[in-house]
Amino acid sequence: TAARLAGIAPTVFSSYSALAVATGSVNLGQGFPDVDGPAEVVEAARAALAAGHNQYAPGPGTPGLRAAIAEHQRERYGITLDPATEVVVTTGATEAVAAAVLGLVEPGDEVLVLEPWYDSYVAMLQVAGAVRVPVTLRAPDFRLDVAALRAAVTDRTRAILLNTPHNPTGTVLTDAELEAVAALAVEHDLLVITDEVYEHLTLDGRVHRPPATFPGMAERTLSISSLGKSFSLTGWKIGWATGPAHLVGALLAAKQWLTFTSGAPLQPAAEVALREHAHWPGELARDLQGRRDLLVSGLVQAGVVAPGAAPPRPEGTYFAVTDVAHLGWADGEAFCRALPERAGVVAIPLQGFGDSDAGTHLVRWTFCKRPEVLTQAVERLLAAD
Ligand code: PMP
Ligand code: GLN
Repeated sequence: TAARLAGIAPTVFSSYSALAVATGSVNLGQGFPDVDGPAEVVEAARAALAAGHNQYAPGPGTPGLRAAIAEHQRERYGITLDPATEVVVTTGATEAVAAAVLGLVEPGDEVLVLEPWYDSYVAMLQVAGAVRVPVTLRAPDFRLDVAALRAAVTDRTRAILLNTPHNPTGTVLTDAELEAVAALAVEHDLLVITDEVYEHLTLDGRVHRPPATFPGMAERTLSISSLGKSFSLTGWKIGWATGPAHLVGALLAAKQWLTFTSGAPLQPAAEVALREHAHWPGELARDLQGRRDLLVSGLVQAGVVAPGAAPPRPEGTYFAVTDVAHLGWADGEAFCRALPERAGVVAIPLQGFGDSDAGTHLVRWTFCKRPEVLTQAVERLLAAD
């Protein structure tokens, strides 16, 4: 393995899913739904294959999908974009983040990143030779510490890599928090890369506000999202980035050498999702709220949440985080390694998702599974020793 990848552990999502299969456990680890998105959208992909959309799509994406993404940003958030120069389709949000970092960050640049982070961010920052500067969201509330964010800025800071709604904590950044980020970015002329893949999966009536809509942000923000979470089609890997042409162009300069173009038959189908099923993600979110409550009350009942402690209340995404320190395990990883054997359930330790020790005893559970699966997981936890 090349030195640029040295020290980056294999992604835990695959290893814990493999562990779930190997042990016959209920998999509340890797975040993917067990019910597919709209049947009409899947049918549209089948139709696109049959209609011969089987050769390379244009590098930045099909004009139809780019227009649908621009329309989504306008209708939903009032963001106006030129689909020809300010929208690019990528192979999932993962490629968009990678291409943004490779296209815009210089070796030695410091990039502020919320901790616990999504693992691909820091892998790509390392590949780019950038220096990650963690800003920790601390249990139990996981709010953004604006003073800590401000204190983390130096004259080498190039960018903030933001994720809201935030995986794994479920935090949805508030207007006040985003205003503070915007003020800081403007003051220090920072680039902002935002991962908004859970934009539609907000709970308890919360609304996601794209960072790009805050004062001074439109001209410095690359907004990234994807079809996977919004439409329960995580295997499609159709994502996108939007923003000013100079930033989208830099991302595209990298993307063209990574993949050149993304899955042609899935692009017309993604267009159908965005144009004809705009309400679907909101319905999913309402449904997820009930599943969150089901899982969290089960975790309380099973004693995974310390007696008397406030249960987690994620505001978005499909993850809940608990602190397992009170259960007597050395750390969250030891707990998660033993859990399949003890209970037949898989969850993900947050240890690897930060530089600080803030996540040592934190464990992530997904509630994006069918209610009967969540109930089965809870029954198993209740029966465990
Ligand atoms: N960002 C976050 C925060 C995620 O949780 C995920 C996982 N789905 C991704 C990016 C990757 O998205 P995609 O599958 O579209 O590449
Ligand atoms: N985003 C999902 C998660 O956080 C899955 C990611 C992955 O498997 N790479 O669990």
